[in-house]
Amino acid sequence: MAKLYYDGDADLSVLSGKTIAVIGYGNQGSAQAQNLHDSGIDVVVGLREGGKSWSKAKSDGLSVSTIESAAEKADIIHILVPDEVQSQVYEASIKPYLSEGKVLGFSHGFNITFGGIKPPENVDLLMVAPKGPGYMVRQLYKEGFGVPALIAVEQDFSGNAKNIALAMAKAMKFTKPGVLETTFYEETTSDLFGEQVVLCGGVSELIKAGFETLVEKGYQPEIAYFECLHELKLITDLIQQGGMGFMWQMVSNTAEFGGRTRGSRIISEATKAEMKKIWEEIEAGKFAAEWRKESEGGMKFLNAQREKEKEEQIEVVGRRIRELFQTAR
Ligand code: NAD
Ligand code: MG
Repeated sequence: MAKLYYDGDADLSVLSGKTIAVIGYGNQGSAQAQNLHDSGIDVVVGLREGGKSWSKAKSDGLSVSTIESAAEKADIIHILVPDEVQSQVYEASIKPYLSEGKVLGFSHGFNITFGGIKPPENVDLLMVAPKGPGYMVRQLYKEGFGVPALIAVEQDFSGNAKNIALAMAKAMKFTKPGVLETTFYEETTSDLFGEQVVLCGGVSELIKAGFETLVEKGYQPEIAYFECLHELKLITDLIQQGGMGFMWQMVSNTAEFGGRTRGSRIISEATKAEMKKIWEEIEAGKFAAEWRKESEGGMKFLNAQREKEKEEQIEVVGRRIRELFQTAR
């Protein structure tokens, strides 16, 4: 059984007298920097001078400086710029200031696991990774609770790295619901696998295939949209709340019988064999290399896909339906 840590397992005084530089002010950076600051931690946000986030962080009441000077000032440097730029930002603006005994923090282990960043041995290397998007990290904090999170220690130079990670988690209220300990490798590879196979890749293709099949059979796209996309949230809410058993209990017996007899024809042994291949690509670093190439080449594939998908019927119909529903409210 994995071990969970709660408020009582973490001591905020570990952070007293320490400055945390939060590098980047996007989804996670803005949420985590504000949470730490509101918990009384000394935070400086490190940003590119004149970038978009600079004035935003300032107007949120945070102290802002260049990445270099934030990294120089801070005891803990928490890297929250996008994974695909972390290596450059680290080399140019952080590494020169990463002196002995400092702490390097992440919310995702991608660059450490796949060698994009190779820190020296005389620093602590830790992860505090909330299991939720930035806006929820901030919103739940303001409501007095937090999202669950993972912590990991890859290098423990000080002998205190785990306590520092737990204190950071506590300051952001992640220890309220609970924090799980993992490793950089486990967090990174499972996160990539989950988002590729189930959460982002798998679910979007499942929705589209169902939608297209109904439309090809002559159904109104609006009906297909509701059936294959809109209702998915209702089902996953039930599963999250009480597991598969609870979901089956809450749908009709007809739905349960149909689902239990047909589901495994859609997600079959062949699907699982492909999942295993995808895992192997992740594990061997093949996916990381492919992603690095895409981002260094200016995101040509991603940009083309984004444009193409906007015009797909399911997106066009969805935009119209969501608009209609809002005016009806
Ligand atoms: P983001 O894209 O929202 O924000 C990144 C910010 O970094 C930008 O707002 C900007 O301030 C800065 N930035 C961007 N490009 C830069 C550059 N070239 N040089 C310097 N600064 C630059 O990123 P995010 O989604 O918050 O992800 C940050 C980290 O958090 C990643 O490691 C990610 O894997 C992890 N994470 C994200 C989520 C999430 O919900 N988005 C969840 C868990 C973990
Ligand atoms: Mg994830």
